[in-house]
Amino acid sequence: MGLEFRQVTKQFVSQASVDPLTAVRDITFKVEEGEFVSVVGPSGCGKSTILSMTAGLYAPTEGEVLVSGEPVRGPNSHVGFMLQKDLLLPWRTIIKNVEFGLESRGVARATRRERALSELARCQLDGFDNHYPYQLSGGMRQRAALARTLAIDPDIILLDEPFSALDAQTKLLLQNSFAETIAQAKITTLLITHDLSEAVLMSDRVIVLSERPGTILETIDVELPDRAHPLARRQMPQVYEYAARIFDLLKLDERAA
Ligand code: ADP
Ligand code: MG
Repeated sequence: MGLEFRQVTKQFVSQASVDPLTAVRDITFKVEEGEFVSVVGPSGCGKSTILSMTAGLYAPTEGEVLVSGEPVRGPNSHVGFMLQKDLLLPWRTIIKNVEFGLESRGVARATRRERALSELARCQLDGFDNHYPYQLSGGMRQRAALARTLAIDPDIILLDEPFSALDAQTKLLLQNSFAETIAQAKITTLLITHDLSEAVLMSDRVIVLSERPGTILETIDVELPDRAHPLARRQMPQVYEYAARIFDLLKLDERAA
């Protein structure tokens, strides 16, 4: 399944102000099935709002968001959402956390367990099923959160800065293991990040947003091999040329503001 934004504008009305706040304006882009696209831009420019609309948590004020060609009308099980904070339930073991989404869908116990175990294996957490979240490192907790997101078998996953709270070393390793897992599962992915080289390392394409209201400044095709292995891409000098280009776009925008 792919996803598409057609001239999407989102405004928020608040009690504090008469004028609505425009978070994003006239956003049009497409992510084809199996593609990995990143969105970068200054903080507050509407990146998370874009994910929330894709997940069906907010409706656009104008325009349309489509998943697999169908307008999004609300949350649905084709779309998995993962945030910077892992949001694992501290009183549940890792496997019980991974089973959570399946439980609420009424999946039978044995099937649930089997799925959860295989997702944990896929996310390199074999043997940690009966640990509690506090017993795991930050990187492992994010992998558990990915396992939980994948357990509902989504066609699309939305990642909102999933690596930004991690130390540099863990971040690189996790980018690599997420990229491998996602490429193998052929899941369509939209990643929000403020790390420009991360966007280049992981994506087929990078959408660069302006300051709020977020509009698309430019979309950059990352023409590099090995999307499934960001660590290998990291050796390629072109990565830094792409990142510098994005940096310049953002800097120019800041001067215009
Ligand atoms: P980003 O993720 O790029 O930092 P967000 O999408 O979180 O930006 O927010 C974009 C703008 O919309 C911000 O000014 C934010 O305060 C505002 N905003 C986000 N969600 C809401 C909401 N539910 N109600 C009112 N304003 C919101
Ligand atoms: Mg955000």
